[in-house]
Amino acid sequence: MSAEMENTHEEEEERQPLQLTTVMKRPSLENDLTSRQEDNSPTEDLSLRTSFVLGSGRRQDRHVDIVDNEIILASNTSMFRNITFTLNHWAHLIAALNDIDTVVKRLNATDENEGRRLLACRRHLGDGYYIRVLFSLRCVDFRKYFVPYGYKSSQIRPPSSNGITLHFDEWKNLLEVIILSINERFPQFANAKQCTYDNNHSTQLNWFRCTSCFPFGYD
Ligand SMILES: [Zn+2]
Repeated sequence: MSAEMENTHEEEEERQPLQLTTVMKRPSLENDLTSRQEDNSPTEDLSLRTSFVLGSGRRQDRHVDIVDNEIILASNTSMFRNITFTLNHWAHLIAALNDIDTVVKRLNATDENEGRRLLACRRHLGDGYYIRVLFSLRCVDFRKYFVPYGYKSSQIRPPSSNGITLHFDEWKNLLEVIILSINERFPQFANAKQCTYDNNHSTQLNWFRCTSCFPFGYD
C-alpha cells in the first residue's frame, strides 16, 4: 500500500490549539449572573456546558458540547445537524475509534477505486446510531438509522437528516485533541462502559433483549 501518496494534504494542516468556551445553559439565570459581577465560577445550582470547537481556519462549524452525562456533536450553521452520545454510545465510539481511523487513514492514502472497495465500514454505537466512513464525501458520518414499518430488523435505513458528518481534519482533531481533553476533565466519559460488558449480556438470549444493542429487535 502506498501510504505516503496523498498524505501531504493531511500533514499541511497544523493542529489548531484547543478552543474552550464555557457557556451558561440556563438563560433565565442571566440577570442573577450580571448582578454578581464577573464572577463566573460555577455554583451548585448552575448547570454548565463545556464546548470544544472542531477543525481549524475558516471551517470551524462543528462543536462538541459536554452537558452532564451527554456529549452533543453539533453544527453552528444548522440546528438540525447534531447527534447526542449517551455514556453507552460514547463507550461504543471509543471502542470503534481505531477501526474507523484505520479506514480514514487508508482512504487518505489510496486512490478512488481502492477507496470504494473500503467503503463498507460501519459500526453500531447503540440505539440505532451508527458511525460510518463515507469515501465519496471524504467524511465520517454519525447517523440514526431506522427500520420502516413492516421490514425486517436487519433492513435498516439511514434517515435523510438525523445526524452529522465530520470532515477528515475535524475527525483527526476529535481523535487527537478533544477526546483526550474530555477524558482528562470528565471522568464519567473516561470510565464509560459499553452495555455489552454488563452481566445481563452474558447469555445470547439476554443480549438479544438489550434494546440498545438491538433497537429494532432481531430476525
Ligand atoms: Zn446492549
